[in-house]
Amino acid sequence: MATKKNKNPVFVTGDVHDPHLRGYDNKWLKRNQGMDEIDCAIKYGDIAEKYKIPVTLFFTGKCFASEKRMKSLHAKSFVEFGAHTYNGLQPSWIHLIFKLLLKSYYGPYKYQRRDIIKTQNIMEDFSGEPVQLWRTHAYQSNNNTLDILRKTGFRVISDEVCLDEAKILQVREGLHSVPINTPPDHENLYHGVFNETRLKDNRMIMDKLSSIFRVHPTRANVIRFIKEVIKTILGRRGKVDFTKPLAYNVTDYFDLLKKETEKALLRDGYAMILLHPGCMEIADGMKGLEEFFQYLKKFKVSFVGDTKLNS
Ligand SMILES: [Zn+2]
Ligand SMILES: [Zn+2]
Repeated sequence: MATKKNKNPVFVTGDVHDPHLRGYDNKWLKRNQGMDEIDCAIKYGDIAEKYKIPVTLFFTGKCFASEKRMKSLHAKSFVEFGAHTYNGLQPSWIHLIFKLLLKSYYGPYKYQRRDIIKTQNIMEDFSGEPVQLWRTHAYQSNNNTLDILRKTGFRVISDEVCLDEAKILQVREGLHSVPINTPPDHENLYHGVFNETRLKDNRMIMDKLSSIFRVHPTRANVIRFIKEVIKTILGRRGKVDFTKPLAYNVTDYFDLLKKETEKALLRDGYAMILLHPGCMEIADGMKGLEEFFQYLKKFKVSFVGDTKLNS
């Protein structure tokens, strides 16, 4: 019997970073699995095809230098393309300075505009199709990003993480925000270097740092900046506090995700899921993902591009 839960849309998304991005996941994949995130995306796309689950993958612009592999991904009928900044906001130190001076990790208007147009151009040259879906790397957009996306013809942005109550809203004329309303994998799931010991160590460093600086309350800005630097060094930055995540093993994570997906469908009328191909491969060679896609078959899974946008 079709229930309300089954009729509301589920969106499955993943972010894919080019091999030049020297993140922990990329390094781990190369060293332990001999793969990069584009290889993982191809495997993810194959699983999507097998279970007929539409998936929307947000790629950094630099991924399109790997033309042959990107063509094979583009040919998959259950894979939709979105954009994810040009190079995953590299190098980090420039963005830390932006954050310190402008309170925007992504950067000033002009920088963002150049980055967004560069990403859009390389993708449109590749596919000959308009690129209309966007997710800023590490959820780092601000009002400038929304203004630029509207002016450059984007229709959907999905980089707000909202686990309580989420709404699909028109944030600029013709541009809708579809918040992620289920727990994302990267910051909740143990995988690769993000294991229990490391998370405990990170928390200890952050606690020590806080206690050292607690005696100098007037230096709040310096403390905040140093914390940003430490978070970056630890490979955890963004609006979400990655230093205190709830961490799960694969089985527990997918149990949680199933519950949260059903909750989101009833509460918000849709579920937006973020499962990175890289993280899924590192965690267990995508076995958990495959089982999850099988579970999703009872729902109405849609491409992000097919979102009904009325408000
Ligand atoms: Zn990213
Ligand atoms: Zn990850």
